[in-house]
Amino acid sequence: MSSVPNHVLAIIEKLESAGFEAVLVGGCVRDLYMNRRPSDWDVATSATPCQVMAEFRRTFPSGIKHGTVTVLSGRGSVEVTTFRSDGDYSDGRRPDNVSFQTDLVTDLSRRDFTMNAMAMRREGEIVDPFFGARDIDAKTVRCVGDPVMRFREDALRIFRAFRFSSVLGFAIDRETMAAAAICSDRCAALSSERICAELCKILMTSRTGLINRILELGLLNRYLLIPGTPVDYISRVGYLSYDQTIRICAFCHLLLKSGQIESPPAFLRDLKLDRHTISVCSKALLNYSDPPADAPTTWKNLLSRESEPVVRCVAALADLEFGGHAFTGQLNSVIRSGECYSTGTLAVNGRDLLEIGFDNGFEIGLTLRFLLDYVIAHPTDNNRYALLLMAKQRLINPIE
Ligand code: ATP
Ligand code: MG
Repeated sequence: MSSVPNHVLAIIEKLESAGFEAVLVGGCVRDLYMNRRPSDWDVATSATPCQVMAEFRRTFPSGIKHGTVTVLSGRGSVEVTTFRSDGDYSDGRRPDNVSFQTDLVTDLSRRDFTMNAMAMRREGEIVDPFFGARDIDAKTVRCVGDPVMRFREDALRIFRAFRFSSVLGFAIDRETMAAAAICSDRCAALSSERICAELCKILMTSRTGLINRILELGLLNRYLLIPGTPVDYISRVGYLSYDQTIRICAFCHLLLKSGQIESPPAFLRDLKLDRHTISVCSKALLNYSDPPADAPTTWKNLLSRESEPVVRCVAALADLEFGGHAFTGQLNSVIRSGECYSTGTLAVNGRDLLEIGFDNGFEIGLTLRFLLDYVIAHPTDNNRYALLLMAKQRLINPIE
């Protein structure tokens, strides 16, 4: 409990002194047990949302329908959720209604996995009715209760199982995995935003090989042309730079190669990715050539035409195909070399060309590009005098 921030402890203490039960729950308890740093702190309490709001000066009803009130304190905000049980899940994702409860174990029983169904009291006692600690020790992701029922209620839990498995390096329990296969068709109804968020978290781990299990189970069938088919090299994605766009691009590349998608932008749009990611990935996939660029000049040429993130993706695709990080290394050396690959670092600019007699913006643009191509091929010739001379010759003998 020593690593729980004081403002979180203070919230629990205040609720307790008002006569309510209040505990830490969910991911933060799991992470504390595993000696990992929790990403957020969730408090569950027997107090109703109104009672919580009455206890604290600054609150915000962030998810009042589900019993969640955000308590704001000087040190940060904490979500405080009333103990609850969930009603039916007729949409396969969210409970139709929830009812507030006063019993902690009832609240823990609605949670997805045993490791996420532990609570911790202020003095450090762990409440663990579903043996989450035992499963954490055995590195196992296991549903609370009957996995088929739990996945039928909410199919996003299938993706969450794979996500926790890849993030934590846990195996998925046999029955839980079998239930994922039985309920796989339920994923068709999930929102793309939620699927995408889980997929991105998996892509950002070193265990991207698990994505092939997701493909084999058909969890992404609605986006793909060939159902249930794994792709080659998916584990290599986990060794690429820790950059979400690069890894999404690599995943698209593998799907494209195996004929599972035809249009990367359409696939990424279906997954509801943001426009910047879609644009960078699509440009990189168009610019990737097999065999890939492997000379400094080729990288500089690419850098002169596309943004650095696009070129980084292209280098990553080459690394993906060949293993290792040689292409990214080569690109880094080109960037570090300080050699010119953009008109911004060319020794002459548009104003210089105006001064020597150019009077047409289009021609100035073409000439700068011509000079840039020359300097990319001859890095030691980025010299104002020599370049102005070349430009003047072009002025006298314009290229048709
Ligand atoms: P992270 O470290 O990624 O935040 P987390 O376990 O805290 O992981 P959250 O999505 O923040 O995950 O959810 C907090 C808690 O709410 C979970 O630990 C779990 O107890 C419960 N929970 C979240 N999503 C579901 C779900 N779909 N079904 C059942 N319980 C869920
Ligand atoms: Mg969390």
